[in-house]
Amino acid sequence: MSTVVLIAVIVAALVAVAVVVLLARRRPRRPLPPPREEARGVRAAPAPARPVGLAARLARTRRAIGDRLADLVGRGRLDDEFWGGMEEALVAADVGVAAASEVVARVRAQGPEDPAAARHLLRGALVDLLAGRDRDLTLTGNPAVVVVVGVNGSGKTTSIAKLAARLRARGGDPLLGAADTFRAAADSQLQTWADRVGVQMVGGQSGADPAAVAFDAYQAARARGKSVVIVDTAGRLHSKTNLMQELGKVVRVLDREAGRVDEVLLVLDGTSGQNAIAQARTFTAAVGVTGIVLTKLDGTARGGVAVAVEKDLGVPVKFIGVGEGMDDLVPFDPEEFVDALIEES
Ligand code: GDP
Ligand code: MG
Repeated sequence: MSTVVLIAVIVAALVAVAVVVLLARRRPRRPLPPPREEARGVRAAPAPARPVGLAARLARTRRAIGDRLADLVGRGRLDDEFWGGMEEALVAADVGVAAASEVVARVRAQGPEDPAAARHLLRGALVDLLAGRDRDLTLTGNPAVVVVVGVNGSGKTTSIAKLAARLRARGGDPLLGAADTFRAAADSQLQTWADRVGVQMVGGQSGADPAAVAFDAYQAARARGKSVVIVDTAGRLHSKTNLMQELGKVVRVLDREAGRVDEVLLVLDGTSGQNAIAQARTFTAAVGVTGIVLTKLDGTARGGVAVAVEKDLGVPVKFIGVGEGMDDLVPFDPEEFVDALIEES
């Protein structure tokens, strides 16, 4: 009797062990959690999602160029009306008269066989116009120094927040300097963004010397071991001369303190089209601009101004703004950009 019980117990135990082993082998392994940024002293920021469809954001410019081209291609004839229409489409999108006629002449000279081939060559010609520029941010200083300039309302403060979010998502730890001491609410707007992005900000009293605030921000960034200091500046003063002198001083002071200013980014409002170029000339003459941030391309049919700006100023567009959100700043990629404009919607 006890032998039977013993055998039953042994059999039951063996079955139980077999079941446990089987279950353990079938349970999928959970992947290891990703390394926590916090452990390295950097508070994790959510990685910016790649904006869905650049073409959708640039829809208005795409309608101005792409849809117009689609109509022309649909006509099926490579005549004067076709070439004139192509040039008009480019001018309407603010590519600029000079760039538009140059590009069309180049496409014509290649002798395309039909309108579709001409459209394809146009893509190549536009990409060529934008090719060969270094669009990466140069951030070599420790901390690196970035000064952001541009007229009021062009999108400086918003672009700084977006840029800080980008750098942070890539392991950087930027500090923002609020050297726009001219507008009373300017530093509270920057502070709000700084809080949202999760970075520190250094400001000054309203009316304080912007160069002194920039200096303080740089010193704070250095003392606190930040990777980069991004300085916001005023876009309007009592006169244009005052503003340019003030910006010049901000850049000089930072240059002297840090040994170099890594980037002077000029923020231009894309909706202002060709006017943006006149503005840009004033700024490039006063401070050495190293890159352009072209904003609000989501709300304009004039996105072609990216081409005109580079051609006129010889300064690379480094980022484009395609919305008001924190993730709506994308590196300017000529091929992606041209495709977003040329493809019919
Ligand atoms: P600042 O005066 O140059 O600092 O300009 P702000 O950063 O305050 O921006 C002025 C306005 O433009 C704000 O309402 C922003 O939300 C808006 N803005 C900035 N960039 C973009 C963009 O890329 N797209 C859109 N749609 N709005 C933008
Ligand atoms: Mg501002």
